Amino acid sequence: MAAAIETKNLTKTYKSKAHGLVNVVDKLNLHVEEGEIFGFLGPNGAGKTTTIKMLLSIIEATEGEGYVLGKELGDFDVHKLISYVPERPYYYEYMTGMEILKFYGSLFGISDVAKMEGLLEKVNLHRDKTKTISQFSKGMQQRIGLAQALLNDPKLLFLDEPTGGLDPIAHREIRDLILSFRDEGRTVFISSHELSEVELICDRVAIINHGVIARQGKLTELLAGGRVEITVEGMKKEILSDMKINDGNVLELGNGVLFDVPAESDIDAIIDGTRAKGGKIQSIVPRKKRLEDLFVETVTAK
Ligand code: ADP
Ligand code: MG
Repeated sequence: MAAAIETKNLTKTYKSKAHGLVNVVDKLNLHVEEGEIFGFLGPNGAGKTTTIKMLLSIIEATEGEGYVLGKELGDFDVHKLISYVPERPYYYEYMTGMEILKFYGSLFGISDVAKMEGLLEKVNLHRDKTKTISQFSKGMQQRIGLAQALLNDPKLLFLDEPTGGLDPIAHREIRDLILSFRDEGRTVFISSHELSEVELICDRVAIINHGVIARQGKLTELLAGGRVEITVEGMKKEILSDMKINDGNVLELGNGVLFDVPAESDIDAIIDGTRAKGGKIQSIVPRKKRLEDLFVETVTAK
């Protein structure tokens, strides 16, 4: 598959009063495949928005290079094929959803009202035709943003924190819309620190911290290797001293012990070993690795 986004050592340096020159994005090597939902994750201030702005050629990279849909950064032709919903979209408060679409459509030379009606329906705002933006909830504002982003039928969408500050129902609506974009063959680049959201929809992710990519890959691969908790009744921790468990923790409970071991461990051997010592297996609970664990592990490392 072709790359939708590719960057090589992409760097943005800003001058800060306190720290002098700072690489807020530092030698970024991103790879986003066409047709995937890519999660660009990192804590506040990690450099997500700055990266998106460079990919959109809104700001210029200090160093490095990048390609969006095969076009080098700075080539504005690509804007016909992409779209962007910023972190805090600002719309004229007195406009209705349709007026917003007409206004942004005019910037693209699009005046197809039937298409706009269809987009309002797609984002479930067709019943709110008379409402102005000032009467829109946050979720509705995000949805009109997504409708606006679809006006030019983009191959690639950049969504900066699309679910920030939304309630669970609004979350789900946005999530379903993003999934429908992938079904339509579009590539979606989402920046977010809302991990549960990303976990549910992204194919691949990169975790950025202090401007540096700490992890990048398929979500399924990054989350491989969970843990298993085995609770055993009727034995003491000391008895287990001769059992070899790599990277395992043994916790003493009131009347037994709890093993916390990597999922790849030889669980059979642990069970046999504890039984041989008179222990009674009470429960075996697999604990899948969560994106949150990986995220915290990654951003707190060093
Ligand atoms: P994120 O979107 O991940 O929260 P940003 O990309 O907005 O992070 O910001 C990354 C860092 O760059 C922050 O420390 C921010 O203060 C700094 N920064 C962003 N824009 C500017 C700017 N125009 N001038 C100086 N520093 C900036
Ligand atoms: Mg941001």
